[in-house]
Amino acid sequence: MAFFQDAPTLGNQFQDDRVLRSYLARVLPPEVRRGVEPGLAELGELAGGELFRAQQEDRLAEPRLEQWDAWGRRVDRIELTSVWKRARRLACERGVVAAAYEPAHGAHARVHQFALVYLFDPSTDTYTCPLAMTDGAARTLLAHQNAALVERAIPRLTSRDPDRAWTSGQWMTERTGGSDVGLTETVARKVDGEWRLFGTKWFTSAVTSEMSLALARPEGNGAGGRGLALFYLETKRPDGSANGIVVNRLKEKLGTRKLPTAELTLDGTVAIPVGELANGVKAITPMLTITRTWNAVCAAAGMRRGLALARDYARRRTQFGAALSQKPLHLETFAGLQAEAEGAFHLAFRAVELLGREERGQATEPERQLLRLLTPLAKLCTARQAMAVMPEVLEVFGGAGYVEDAGISHLLRDAQVLPIWEGTTNVLSLDVLRALVERGAGEAYQAEIESLAREARVPTLAAAAKQALEASSRAFAWLLEESRRGREGAEAGARGFALTLARSLELALLARHGQWSIEHEKDGRAAAAATRFARHGADCLAAADPAAAALADDRPLPT
Ligand SMILES: Cc1cc2nc3c(=O)[nH]c(=O)nc-3n(C[C@H](O)[C@H](O)[C@H](O)COP(=O)(O)OP(=O)(O)OC[C@H]3O[C@@H](n4cnc5c(N)ncnc54)[C@H](O)[C@@H]3O)c2cc1C
Repeated sequence: MAFFQDAPTLGNQFQDDRVLRSYLARVLPPEVRRGVEPGLAELGELAGGELFRAQQEDRLAEPRLEQWDAWGRRVDRIELTSVWKRARRLACERGVVAAAYEPAHGAHARVHQFALVYLFDPSTDTYTCPLAMTDGAARTLLAHQNAALVERAIPRLTSRDPDRAWTSGQWMTERTGGSDVGLTETVARKVDGEWRLFGTKWFTSAVTSEMSLALARPEGNGAGGRGLALFYLETKRPDGSANGIVVNRLKEKLGTRKLPTAELTLDGTVAIPVGELANGVKAITPMLTITRTWNAVCAAAGMRRGLALARDYARRRTQFGAALSQKPLHLETFAGLQAEAEGAFHLAFRAVELLGREERGQATEPERQLLRLLTPLAKLCTARQAMAVMPEVLEVFGGAGYVEDAGISHLLRDAQVLPIWEGTTNVLSLDVLRALVERGAGEAYQAEIESLAREARVPTLAAAAKQALEASSRAFAWLLEESRRGREGAEAGARGFALTLARSLELALLARHGQWSIEHEKDGRAAAAATRFARHGADCLAAADPAAAALADDRPLPT
């Protein structure tokens, strides 16, 4: 009989996830764990079963923009994919945003919520993008304490009722740049007592949202980020017509193709200032803290999905007389991927824990400073790890990994957005330097890594933790030395510096969790992940290359 290869399948994505379950067992008090685990198990079942199958059936569907109706009226209707319609309802009912704002689990609410995000994300075709911005908008409005906006939007942004719930966009990026948003050209003008926005927004994801937070420059304000203000707007007028918003087109993207990302013209969009009529870039910071945390958790979730599929496939695929899962070289390669994914998971969730404590007023000052530093570190490092792991996941599938209808290749295409949006790797590396200058987060980081290292007592784990301490100490010494010499060297080495801090912390977190898992679960796998990660190394420092401009920009280089 002819041979046909079985496709990979997934089990319950909560029950099968040693890393998530072990982590929750360590950080959640037993009563909280008992409260949240049934819901996580249900979502894990859906994610590995029904939703996963629906995603595959819906593989070719993409959102469609209909700009005109039959009679020539501009309508700008966007038809979403079936998985997205389902994800919208499910996200509300399961509280994928709401869980963070509910009182039941106190400072653990964020861990609960992001465990939901981690399970939900890989089976819902990037629906986590609008959810992240919704969460970010809620956090931003609450931070500004604009009572009228809080009263109007928060109950909808955090609702579990699909018929009442809203999602939000964040409209910052313009043709002038998404990194340097101080160049924003959109103008806010007072017309008949109302603020109205005029300009173009170049990347607006999930343009089907009911509201958005947008940056614009009130007429008469100066240049740069300080001259911008943060505005709240609803995308439709009370009569259902567009609020001065024209959808020029949907972006044709490499990945995240189910996510409608649009170019918009704002032509008199009625908007309300969220706070003062200046300092808009600072005003939108709470949004960025939240969306970057989502990015880190979704990077870890994407890796987990890729590895779950590849692990199952390796057990089904036979080459040279045995399943791949029996081949020493396959196992050796795969173990490295698993260790990277576990490191990313623990860093992302450490940021989540700190966020939860800060929001519930339980964070100490050093914890607040650590959160400021960990948010860009976790976002930039986990995104790069996803971009290292995903090509290897595809390679496990051989040619099938490269073939669209096998349903694997999108993992790589979708991962490529992770290091780009919400701040690129280089932009966030520079933000890490700012975090250290602004708030003295360096001491908080050192205290954190030392306290983690103290908990790693098994010799291999103690050695891993020592390696983490040494790598991070070298990084701080390097920064001090470069900063003495001037700005340029520190800026040129910022990426290596940031990655060293992030990877050192991942290693220390892995070592601490490995110790815990040995003691409480009699399981050596978390410890093995730590020692394997240690082999990959944490030190990414690189001195500025004097020939960089010649090599990168092809400038003459005298010999
Ligand atoms: C799928 C998708 C959806 C998106 N959705 C949204 C959205 O909903 N809302 C929104 O506002 N934006 C959105 N964006 C935009 C995204 O945030 C920006 O693309 C991103 O911030 C980068 O901005 P840019 O594209 O203008 O690139 P640029 O800012 O021009 O950056 C180009 C390159 O310059 C580098 N760079 C910049 N400054 C420095 C520096 N000082 N030193 C060294 N290198 C530097 C960057 O790292 C990058 O590699 C989306 C993007 C994508 C791909």
